Amino acid sequence: MGSFHLAKMSLRNAFKKPATKMYPVVAPTFTSRSKGHVANDIENCIFCGLCQRRCPTHAISVNKDETSWAIDRFSCIQCLSCVRICPKKCLSMAPQYTLPATEKSTETFYKPEQAAMSPVNTERPE
Ligand code: SF4
Ligand code: SF4
Repeated sequence: MGSFHLAKMSLRNAFKKPATKMYPVVAPTFTSRSKGHVANDIENCIFCGLCQRRCPTHAISVNKDETSWAIDRFSCIQCLSCVRICPKKCLSMAPQYTLPATEKSTETFYKPEQAAMSPVNTERPE
């Protein structure tokens, strides 16, 4: 009886649509409860460092002298603490996931006037 049920279940699963999607080949569906990723409207950031101090996983690095804000997306657990504490409301959860990657990297944002040589979201040149 047990093996009959197992065979039946295996057959059913063999012809069922997969429960997971081939992300990022197949675009994900975002709902109102999807968290996505932390985005920074860097033009309004004052580099106060509150988000860095509040982050439980130390995913954020703020450099006031360089007017840069960086996030290690692999460490971020989407807890929203930084979004809630930001006094300028420049942090938000963008409804997209970051692309999967095989190597850890930090995404850095620069204040636009400082980034004349280097666009937002890239490392500033040496
Ligand atoms: S809390 Fe807001 S204003 Fe302060 S450094 Fe973080 S993102 Fe910038
Ligand atoms: S959402 Fe949470 S874990 Fe992610 S950067 Fe903000 S405070 Fe850190």
